[in-house]
Amino acid sequence: MSEFVVAVDGPAGSGKSSVSKAAAVEKDFGYLDTGAGYRAFTWHAISNPGFDLTQLIETFEYEISLDPKNQRLTLSGEDITEVIRTPMVAERVSEFARNLRVRKLQLEDARARISKCSKRGIVVEGRDITTVVKPDAQVRVLLTASESVRLKRRGLEETESAENLKERDQSDSKVAEFLEPAAGVSLLDTTDLDFQQSVAALVALIDAEINV
Ligand code: C5P
Repeated sequence: MSEFVVAVDGPAGSGKSSVSKAAAVEKDFGYLDTGAGYRAFTWHAISNPGFDLTQLIETFEYEISLDPKNQRLTLSGEDITEVIRTPMVAERVSEFARNLRVRKLQLEDARARISKCSKRGIVVEGRDITTVVKPDAQVRVLLTASESVRLKRRGLEETESAENLKERDQSDSKVAEFLEPAAGVSLLDTTDLDFQQSVAALVALIDAEINV
């Protein structure tokens, strides 16, 4: 079980996934992308249009690796690593993330995965990690960037439209607080930082706590 938890929240396109992953590699920590769980649930719903929410929850069987160098995700044994990054999923994910039963499922799932991680630390990223999933994490960070920089970063990935990214943040921010840092959460604004500088800044926040 990981004794050291690094909680990273932030809006869409902030770069928190790639920065968190790189910091986890550098520290030899595990890595958990909680947004992937919400995306997997959304794909599960899209794939089973006849199911109601109870059936969807009961039949949701997904696995995600905690290895930052090898992110594979399966749903009922099928590889969904690529499909959950498509616009089809990005356009519907907030609709499911608003649902309290889905949030409860994902919260319990994330906590269980964190406690199963065999590395000495784990970087966990999402929207409500610093506030709900792991408010007791040793390092709590809100990683953000200006809207124009976030649109540019996401545009380079071509995974969703600018309108969808904005709508997603607007909807998501009604159920989780990730636009302003909560009390005790460090703000890491990467607007003027390149990727390596952003990783170095997150690693510095980790090192400041791990060495005490
Ligand atoms: O981080 P990512 O963009 O992959 O997250 C996809 C969606 O999952 C978000 O837009 C949000 O609706 C939801 N989410 C959430 N809480 C988290 C992580 C993601 O509501 N901790």
